Amino acid sequence: MFTPKSTERSRRRVDARTTIWVAYLIGALALTVAYFLATPATAKLVFWPIIGWSSFAAMIVGIRMHKPEGRGAWYLLAAGLAMLIIGDDLYSVRNFVLHARNLFPSYVDVVYLTMYPLLIVGLSMLVRRRSIQRDRASVVDAAIITCGVGLLAWVILIVPYLRTDMSMMERATSIAYPLADVALLAIVARLAVGSGRRPVAFWLLAASLVSLLAADAIYGYRNLADTWHEHDPIDIGWILFYAGWAAAALHPSMRELSVRAIGSARITRRRLMFVGSAALISPAVLFVQQLLGPVVDGAAIAIVSAALFILVLGRMSGLARKAADERNETRFRALVNNASDAIVVVDDIGTIRYQTPSAERVFGRTSEQLVGHSLGTMLTADDERQLHMLLEREGVTTTIEWRILGVDGEQRDMEIAAADMRSDSDVRGLVLTMRDITERKLLDGELRRQALHDTLTGLPNRSLFHDRVAHALRRASRENLEVAVLFLDLDDFKMVNDSLGHAAGDEVLVAVAARLVSALKAHDTVARFGGDEFAVLLESSNATEASELVAKRIQGALLAPFDVAGEHIPVHVSIGISIGLPGAATPSDLLRDADLAMYVAKRDGKARFEHYAPEMHEHAIRRLEVASELRGAIDNDELVLFYQPIVVTDTGRYLGVEALVRWNHPKRGLVPPLDFIPIAESTGLIIPLGRWVLDQACQQMRIWRRDGLVGEDFYVSVNLSARHLRDPNVVEDVAHALDVAGLPANALLIEVTESALVEDLDPTGAVFTRLKGLGVRLAIDDFGTGYSSLARLSTFPLDVVKIDKSFVDRLTLSADGEATVRAVVALAHTLGMVAVAEGVEEAEQADALAELGCTMSQGFLFARPVPAEALTASLIGGGANLVRSAR
Ligand code: C2E
Ligand code: CA
Ligand code: CA
Repeated sequence: MFTPKSTERSRRRVDARTTIWVAYLIGALALTVAYFLATPATAKLVFWPIIGWSSFAAMIVGIRMHKPEGRGAWYLLAAGLAMLIIGDDLYSVRNFVLHARNLFPSYVDVVYLTMYPLLIVGLSMLVRRRSIQRDRASVVDAAIITCGVGLLAWVILIVPYLRTDMSMMERATSIAYPLADVALLAIVARLAVGSGRRPVAFWLLAASLVSLLAADAIYGYRNLADTWHEHDPIDIGWILFYAGWAAAALHPSMRELSVRAIGSARITRRRLMFVGSAALISPAVLFVQQLLGPVVDGAAIAIVSAALFILVLGRMSGLARKAADERNETRFRALVNNASDAIVVVDDIGTIRYQTPSAERVFGRTSEQLVGHSLGTMLTADDERQLHMLLEREGVTTTIEWRILGVDGEQRDMEIAAADMRSDSDVRGLVLTMRDITERKLLDGELRRQALHDTLTGLPNRSLFHDRVAHALRRASRENLEVAVLFLDLDDFKMVNDSLGHAAGDEVLVAVAARLVSALKAHDTVARFGGDEFAVLLESSNATEASELVAKRIQGALLAPFDVAGEHIPVHVSIGISIGLPGAATPSDLLRDADLAMYVAKRDGKARFEHYAPEMHEHAIRRLEVASELRGAIDNDELVLFYQPIVVTDTGRYLGVEALVRWNHPKRGLVPPLDFIPIAESTGLIIPLGRWVLDQACQQMRIWRRDGLVGEDFYVSVNLSARHLRDPNVVEDVAHALDVAGLPANALLIEVTESALVEDLDPTGAVFTRLKGLGVRLAIDDFGTGYSSLARLSTFPLDVVKIDKSFVDRLTLSADGEATVRAVVALAHTLGMVAVAEGVEEAEQADALAELGCTMSQGFLFARPVPAEALTASLIGGGANLVRSAR
C-alpha cells in the first residue's frame, strides 16, 4: 500500500540513516583527534582498537540496515577489515605490552596477509554483480593500471627488499605485502574503470582502498629507509581506510553498488588520461633511473613495457571495434528514438526496464513514471491478464491489441508486436513494439457506424437491421422467444417531397424517426431502409400480440401532424408484420414477408397494419408472373380494346365511346383491366400500354369516321394513368396518336382519375394545359372517390366530370344521395363542365339523372363494353338510338 502515511514513514527512515552516517563520521573524527593527541601507548592500545572496532561495528550495522543484494561480498569485506584490526591489535599488544619488538615475521603477519584474499574476493564479487556482461575494456584498462603501478611497487618496494641481507623468510614476508597490495590494486582499478553507478558509497569505498594502498606503500618505503616509527602521521592513511570502509557500508547509497549496469563504461577524457598516465609509468621509471645512475631494473621495465604495449594494442583494437559498433548503435538508436512506434522492454514480472523516448508520448507519462514501474498497472484488467499470460509462456512472438490507461484517465488503443527476448543476453526481456492506433480505431468505428447507419436519421440501416434480425432469431431459438418484424412505409410521402421540396421531406423523415424511437422500448430496433421505409424488430414471448400493440402505438405516435416548413403535415403509415418462429425463418424471409404484408395494407386502403399470410406470397408471385407476361402481351398483340358507348341520358343516343382495355391472355382468356392495370402501373409498363391504347383508339375512330358511321362530334374517351401523365413524353404520345390517325384533337377525350390530380399537383397541371393546347378535351374520372374538394377542380382546365358509380348507386336509395349528385351536377355546370353519370344500370337511375339535368350517361343499362366489331355492327344498325326508345 502506498499511502501518504507510509511515504512519510519511509522518508523519515532515510533521514534516520543519514543521521547515523553523519554521527559515525563525527565520532571517527573525534577518535582520530584523540588518537593523535594521546601518548603512543595509549593511542595504540586504546584509541586505535576503538577506531578499528567501531568501524567494523559500523560496517556490520550498515550491512544489516541496508540489506544490499549480494550481502556475502560485504561480509567478506567486513571480515577483511576485521583481519587488519586484529593484526593491528596483536601487534600493539606485542609492541607496547610485551615489548617484544623485533619479532618478524610472525603470526601477526599471517593475520595481516589473510586480509588480502578476503578483500580481493569480496571486491571481485561486487565487480561481478555490477556488470551484467563481460567488460573486456575495463579488464584491459585495469591491467594497464596494475602493470604501471605494479612496476613502481617492484622498483621501489620489492627489489630493494630482495637486495637486503634479511633471511629468506623475512624477505618473503616483506615482499608479500607489496605483492598483495598490487593484487588488491588490480581489483580496485577494475572497480574504478568498470561501468555501473557511482554513488557516494562507491567513492568512499574507492577512496578508502586508495588510502590503504598509499599508507601501505609509504610504510613499506619508510620501513626500508628505516625512517618509520610508531604513532606516525601516516597512520591517518589506515584511519581513512577504516573510516572510509565503514562510512561506505553505512551510507544509504551502498545498496546501489550492487545494481547491474547495462553496457560497458564510456570512454571519458578523464579515463583516457588516467589509463594513459599509468602506461607512461614504465618509460618514466626508465628515465628516472637513467638520470640517477645506471638503470638497475632494465629487465623488469622491458617486460612491463612489452606487457603494456600488448595491452594497449588489445585495447585499441577493442576501441576500433567498439567505434564501429557504436556507429551502428547510434544509427539504430536514432532510428528507434525517432520512430513513431514506441518500444518497451519488460522483465519477467512485467516491470518496464527500458523504453524508447517515443514511449513517453504514447503512454502520456515521463520516463521516471515508466522505468521501474509495472506495465500491468497501465493496462485494463483484461490486457494485464494477457500480459502475464505472455510472460508465462516462453519464446512467444505475437501481435495483440491493448488499451493503455493514461494518467488522466484517457485510454489509447495500441497495436503491439510482442517478442520474447528474455533468453537474449543483450535484451533480457519481453520486447513490446507499440503503435498508437487510437485514431485509426476511431476512424474504423466511424466508418463502421456510417456503413451500418442511415446518415439522415442516424438509425441503423438495412444491413445492420438484417444482422440484428439474424441475431434475434438465434437468441430466440435458445430462449424460446418469438421475433416480429414490422415493415413501415409512409403513405403518399411523395406528395410531401413534391409539394414542399426534399429539404422539408428530410425534416419530416427525421421527425418521424424520432417519434418511432420514442414509441418503442430501448431494446427494440428501429431502422430506416431509405426513402420513406422504416422497419422495427421486436423480441417477445408473444410476438403476434406485441407487434399489434406496437403497430398501434406507432400509428398513435404519428397521429399529430408534423410542423415543417410552416405547414401541418399529416403522416400516415402502412405497416406489414411478419412473425419469425424460432428456427423456422431467416432474416430475409421475415423482411420479405413483412414487406408483402405492408404492400397489402397499402392496397387495402393505407394507414393500416396487416399480418403476413401465406396467400400474400402466392398473390405476389402471381403479380410477378403477370408482370413478366404483360411485357410480352403488348408486342404479341394480346391486348384488345372494348368500347362502351356514352349516351344521351333520356334518348340513349350515342355521343361517344370509352375505350377500355382487356388482355386476351392465351391461357387465362379475357383478363379484366383491374387484374393487370395496377401491375402495369407499378412496373412502368403502363406507359407503353397507354401509348398502345391511344394509337388503337384513334385508329378505330378514324375507321368509323371514314366509313361514315359516326358524326364529326362523336368522340373516343381514353383512360390515361397518373404515371403516364408524369412521363415527359405524354403530350407527344397523344399528339402522335392523333397525327397518325389524321384525327382532329376534339375527337379525343382523355380521362384522368381524381387521385391523379391529388397526387401530382404541379406537374400534371402543366401537362393538362399542354394537352388542352393540342385541342384535346379532359375529363375527371371516378369523381367523388378521391376526396378532392369541388373548388380544387376549378383550378384544372377540365371539360367533363364523370360521376362515380357509387354516387349513381345511392341516387335512388336516399334523398341524401340525390342531393349529392344534384350538387355535383350543378357545380359542373357552374364551372362550365359537362357531367357524365357512370355505371347506370337501372332505368330509375336514368330517369333521376335526366331530372337532375345530367344529360349524359354510361352504363350497362345502355350498353356494355364490347369489341370494336360489335360496336361497328350496332353503329351500322343505328340500333343505338333505339335503346331508350325501345323501352
Ligand atoms: P373506369 O375508367 O371507371 O371505366 C369504367 C368501368 O366501369 C369499366 O370497367 C366498365 O366496364 C365499368 N362499367 C361501365 N358501366 C357499368 C355498369 O353499368 N355497371 C358496372 N358494374 N360497371 C360498369 P372495366 O372495363 O373493367 O375497367 C375498369 C377500370 O380499368 C376503368 O375504370 C379504368 O380505370 C381502368 N382501365 C380500363 N381500361 C383502361 C386503359 O386503357 N387505360 C387505363 N389507364 N386504365 C384503364
Ligand atoms: Ca374511365
Ligand atoms: Ca370511372
